[in-house]
Amino acid sequence: MQIQAVQETSFVEIQNILAKQRNFFLQGKTLEYSFRLQQLKLLKQIIKAHETEILQALKSDLNKAEFEGYATEVGFTYEELNHAISHLKSWMRPKTVWTPMTQFWAVSKIYPKPYGVSLIISPWNYPFQLLFAPLIGAISSGCTAVLKSSELAPATSSIAKKLVTKYFQPEYVALVEGGVETSQYLLQQKWDVIFFTGSTQVGKIVMQSAANHLTPVILELGGKSPCIVDETAHLDFAAKRIVWGKLVNAGQTCVAPDYLLVHESIKQPLVQKIIENIKKSYGDDPSQSPDYPRIINEKHFIRLTNYLKDGNIIFGGQTDINQKYISPTLLENVSPDSPVMQEEIFGPILPIMTYKNLQEAINFINSRPKPLALYLYTNSSENEKRILNYTDSGGGCINDCLVHLAPQDLPFGGVGDSGMGNYHGKSSFDAFSHPRGILKKTNLFDVPIRYAPYLNKIKLLKYFMK
Ligand code: NAD
Repeated sequence: MQIQAVQETSFVEIQNILAKQRNFFLQGKTLEYSFRLQQLKLLKQIIKAHETEILQALKSDLNKAEFEGYATEVGFTYEELNHAISHLKSWMRPKTVWTPMTQFWAVSKIYPKPYGVSLIISPWNYPFQLLFAPLIGAISSGCTAVLKSSELAPATSSIAKKLVTKYFQPEYVALVEGGVETSQYLLQQKWDVIFFTGSTQVGKIVMQSAANHLTPVILELGGKSPCIVDETAHLDFAAKRIVWGKLVNAGQTCVAPDYLLVHESIKQPLVQKIIENIKKSYGDDPSQSPDYPRIINEKHFIRLTNYLKDGNIIFGGQTDINQKYISPTLLENVSPDSPVMQEEIFGPILPIMTYKNLQEAINFINSRPKPLALYLYTNSSENEKRILNYTDSGGGCINDCLVHLAPQDLPFGGVGDSGMGNYHGKSSFDAFSHPRGILKKTNLFDVPIRYAPYLNKIKLLKYFMK
């Protein structure tokens, strides 16, 4: 499949879709459990029926191997769908909470309510999953959705557009294609919730636009996720798992280990094992491996190759602009002030820094914006406790990387510069709902204490509210 550019959706059409969705939401159809369930099942059927085309589109956009495309995009979406299908009923159920004696007799309940018309903007790196996983949240919660796919992954955008247009009514779910201008136009409109996945820089623009309408936002952003390997770590497993986590999608993963912070005593053996594992996975020449993805476009290729100047290359460093290929590369002697250590790398380049004691590593991490993920390889429960207590990140793993995205019950999201709000599993349902708190009072009797004249009722009040 060779698709060079997305088919831009016109502004008139966007207005039309938005008006229709507002009207459709108010009709209340999305409030029904049966409707939501049916739509989730429909989404699964659609993906199943077009799985091959989706995987081909991912191959075309990013040279993703079928295995990788399935594991990280299509299969991942099935897991989210299965979880939502089996838990939807309990998520939708109003939850009774405690009511204080002062309100005797009453029942307090939290009713999850859909925000309404949602906008979902996605990036190019997991162009299928990052469009449809949030949609599962929108459907589960009873929102309508306008999806904005990434213009930089045109093949995936095209198949996504085809599927959404063919199987969903635009008043319920629609997909808008286009670049920055289209995205900006969308952001000028009034939405009931905006779910954005992308860079921290654009996340700020999204939040500023949303502020004009006081629209709640979920911002799934990026940043530099540190990966600490201490002197007690199981080096064989650490090396294998780091290589996997860094090179899936050629490092173009928001939660990829961005750089290593390694205890100086184990740097040499770790580097050796990392090199061995790169060769085991992708051969002596990864450009020939059918499993090694490519950089999304020339702009990002050039950005990445510039980082190669920021340290000493101890492994890799081969590039080919025609193929947008950058080999897995290890860098040492990098300055913390250099671009490769200041900007999110988002490619197959791994700077390796060392530390002498753990506090140094903690101080380094805490001197920087809060990362989306943090990884620690250790066999020391003391070190684990210190890192979990004294650093912060959206999420992370101990002795692995990336896989904290797999359990649906773990909320996934950032903190500080890496974003706000969470999703996956129940968190996706919550992201598109607001908890409406309702107290229902009995009509059998009426406790008179709260009404004036207060006389000496203060004593009674103090008995209940002490
Ligand atoms: P991006 O922020 O450039 O673009 C994301 C979306 O925003 C695209 O649909 C794009 O059309 C739109 N956009 C771009 N510039 C805009 C502007 N000025 N105004 C309005 N809209 C605009 O991000 P990207 O390059 O597509 O993706 C890479 C970034 O996304 C990385 O920082 C990565 O860490 C982050 N990311 C985060 C997650 C997560 O789950 N937290 C997942 C994947 C990617």
